[in-house]
Order: sequence, then structure tokens, then C-alpha cells
Amino acid sequence: MSEHPDQPDTAQEERQTKPALLRGFRRRCPNCGEGGLFQGYLKVVDRCPVCREELHHHRADDGPAYLTILIVGHLLAPVIHVGFTHFRPEPLVMATVLTVLAVALSLYLLPRLKGLVVGIQWARRMHGFGKAH
Ligand SMILES: [Zn+2]
Repeated sequence: MSEHPDQPDTAQEERQTKPALLRGFRRRCPNCGEGGLFQGYLKVVDRCPVCREELHHHRADDGPAYLTILIVGHLLAPVIHVGFTHFRPEPLVMATVLTVLAVALSLYLLPRLKGLVVGIQWARRMHGFGKAH
């Protein structure tokens, strides 16, 4: 029973980090895993449409872009090496294939990594996520 009946008991209950990360990566609310985390491509909703958890406290900033570049770079660098040394494609073919791969992979990963970053911020009560409202 809460000391403050108007505040939920869940205000300081433990938040599991791993499920929150997975829900965020699936672009779902880190609290319930049901509601969509984004309106549009990257805009985080103010509140979860299902459980009403406030999500506007996130400060993902440049973190998702940094992680996207880190992962895409490490995945495509070996592809460049192997592709060039084994197949010797025409430079224009190689540039086109790598460009399409880099753009597609980045567009796929960016919102998922942003969800992951919002998930860890929510689970660790970073920024405004820890305050009882
Ligand atoms: Zn929710």
C-alpha cells in the first residue's frame, strides 16, 4: 500500500533492464511491450497508448545514430574486404551494392536502436523516468 494513495505503488518498483531493451528494440513501450513507442519513424510518443507510461522523458539524442554507425560500419567493413578481394567487382557495382546495403541497414537499425536506448533509460530511471508524477 502506498503512503500516497494518489500515486501508484509502481513508482519505485524494480524495472528489468533486459526486457525493456528487447521491447525497445521491437519499437514497443519498454513498460508493457504492447503500445507503439514511435509516432512516425523516430518521434517517441509522449505516453504509451496502452499503459499510459510517460515516455517523453527520454534523452536518446545522438546515441542511436552513433550505435547505428558503429554497427553498420563493423558489418560492412568485412563485406568490403571480402567482396573486393574475392570477387573484384566493377567499382560502380560495388559502390552501388554497398550504398544500398548501408542505407537499408541504417534505416532498419536506427529506430530499433533508438527504442533500445529509450528502453535502457526507462529501466535505469535515467533523466525524468525515475520521478514519481
Ligand atoms: Zn506501455
